[in-house]
Amino acid sequence: MSLFSPVEMAPRDPILGLNEAFNADPREEKVNLGVGVYYDENGKVPLLRAVQAAEEARVAEHAPRTYLPMEGLAPYDLAVQKLLLGADSALLSSGRLITAQSLGGTGALKLGADFLYRLSGKRLVAISDPSWENHRSLFEAAGYEVVTYPYYDPATHGLNLQGMLQGIEQLPEGSVVLLHACCHNPTGVDLGVDEWKQVIEVVRKRNHVPFLDIAYQGFGDNLEEDALAVRLFAEAGLPCLIASSFSKSFSLYGERVGALTLITETPEEGERVLSQLKRVIRTNYSNPPTHGAKVVAAVLNNAELYAIWEQELAEMRVRVKQMRQALVEKLQAAGVQQDVSFIQQQRGMFSFSGLTREQVARLAEESAIYAVGSGRICVAALNDNNIDVVANAMAKVLL
Ligand code: PLP
Repeated sequence: MSLFSPVEMAPRDPILGLNEAFNADPREEKVNLGVGVYYDENGKVPLLRAVQAAEEARVAEHAPRTYLPMEGLAPYDLAVQKLLLGADSALLSSGRLITAQSLGGTGALKLGADFLYRLSGKRLVAISDPSWENHRSLFEAAGYEVVTYPYYDPATHGLNLQGMLQGIEQLPEGSVVLLHACCHNPTGVDLGVDEWKQVIEVVRKRNHVPFLDIAYQGFGDNLEEDALAVRLFAEAGLPCLIASSFSKSFSLYGERVGALTLITETPEEGERVLSQLKRVIRTNYSNPPTHGAKVVAAVLNNAELYAIWEQELAEMRVRVKQMRQALVEKLQAAGVQQDVSFIQQQRGMFSFSGLTREQVARLAEESAIYAVGSGRICVAALNDNNIDVVANAMAKVLL
């Protein structure tokens, strides 16, 4: 018997499994709405102009490939802080902000999870119902018990605020509460100022540990307004962890550019926190990769490139919104009687379409249109060439 003969097959990742089924489908007009990636109007993942300019400059430098510090590239970490807290935030120069470059937003979540687990023995985390699938798996793999708090109300296709507040209130004191700062994945349902303030009060009252996940900054309203939750938590003076990602906003998925930022109470506390965070990093992967962070830092720290990037990000955001509107109009034109206007209100790359598991299965079977079983569709995968096919197929299963 070999060492590996008892190894059982792991369950297939639901979304990657979907891609396999999509790739194997021979039908020509097939559409993959299961992805978590922004596609442009030609159905391609864009290479942003700002990124290309920064990359060309970097290659021309012929710089040696040394190690980065454990916490990553300093100008990158600083630029992350500015983007999250605002360029005029007093926290920037306070010594209380600690940022470590991470392997995407996923890496930031894992760093934060490991850090809290090792330091304070945190063992319970609450995630929204529903949430990004990997939240549960990631925290479970880090040793946590994962529970949920109510979030989405299927009846209104909106937020179940009372359920959310009660759910968070009822958690054992000092629980880790994972919150999507903007463009909630998968529902596209976000909180407004007053709603965030109520959540903050419950978190404060129960001494919970807020852990904000912001993977879509710039895809809701704009960079500043999408940072609302982060800034409200900062204003409230609560200690806080923030996992951020440039995968989507820079279209740099494979470069793994993210960051974990912590708001601490004093500079001295910040120093201690950073020293422990470095230990987590050192014992996991030692130090982060260079390329993505250099490129992002070059764009964020150069006024001209920043302006180009902001424009490109706005183009992506506007295109998704246009596709939402077109989908709603085309569904109605195809005879769908139900109110589908919520698709237009949802924010970010996804729509929680309300399609049932059976309807999703029919879409794949009858029309070669692939969506996540929960009904999540990636609006950013729609374009002028496939939207009619999608709207008509959706209408067929909804009628
Ligand atoms: N958090 C949420 C809510 C996400 O949707 C994603 C990506 O899909 C991530 C984190 C992780 O992003 P990254 O690809 O940067 O690891």
